[in-house]
Formats: sequence, C-alpha cells, structure tokens
Amino acid sequence: MKITNRDDWRVIIEIRPRYTHTHISALGFTNLDYDLDGEIDGDPFELTIAPRSLGDLGPGLSVGDRLASRDIDAAYKRRCEAMLAELLRAPHVQSGRVTYTETHTCSHCWLVWEELTADEAADDSTNQDKRSVEGEPVCCGKAIAEFRSERGIPAVQQDGAA
Ligand SMILES: [Zn+2]
Repeated sequence: MKITNRDDWRVIIEIRPRYTHTHISALGFTNLDYDLDGEIDGDPFELTIAPRSLGDLGPGLSVGDRLASRDIDAAYKRRCEAMLAELLRAPHVQSGRVTYTETHTCSHCWLVWEELTADEAADDSTNQDKRSVEGEPVCCGKAIAEFRSERGIPAVQQDGAA
C-alpha cells in the first residue's frame, strides 16, 4: 500500500519593508546604537521559517516526533497554520503560506513508491507480465500482489509462465 508522508513543513511569509517603516530590530539587529540603526528598505521579500520540531519539549528536553504526536502530519499542519496566523498580525507581513514536501513509500518494503507508466506496463522489458497495467507498483512482490487482488487481476506467475 502506498503510504504518503509529509515532511519539511515550512511557513513562508512575505515581508513588505517599505510600507510600514519596519525597524531593523525586526530582523534581530537589536543592539545597535541609536545613531547606527534604521528602517528596512527595498522590495517585498520572502522569509522561510522551519517550525520547532514536535518532540522539542523545552530546553534540554526532546523526544522523537512519533513519541510527541500520534498524527505527526496533522500536528505540524496545526502548528504551522497557527504560526502563520500569528505572524500575519504583524503589519510588515503582507501574506504567507504553509508548505511541505510529500514522499510516498511502500507499507511492505518501505522503499520509495514507484508505479508503472502506461508505456512501461505495455513494454515486456519493464512490466511483470501481459496483465500489468498503468499504476502497478514496482517495489516488491507484496505490493504488486495487493494491487492486483484489489483490482481482480490474476497474480504474477512465479515460474515465469505468462
Ligand atoms: Zn514494496
């Protein structure tokens, strides 16, 4: 079975420096002498923020994400959306969004999930047999057997007979 994992959750915000007279202390330059500080100038730019990991429970106390949450994807989504909502309250934040990358793995062998294309399914050098169809997984026998039984396709013959 194809398992979808979401990873690399990020909050991306667009900063508009010019319109709101944002002081450079907003970027962490907080210890400058009065005569040496100023306001951020320039065009709007994007800032990418990685959320604190779910298992980060405080200074010196961290566990794996799996221990911290039963639904890691949902927990990161909630965390990032809450962070975005909070950041959008600042006047120099113009807009923002939450992003992530998706990876697909096989529940049987944990390899990356790959499927035959229509061309590969029709090609005897890449398919399992004549009954291979587009979308059939390629990672392991269990995934192929599962895919075929769900669709009523006869199993791959082990002895090479088609
Ligand atoms: Zn597999």
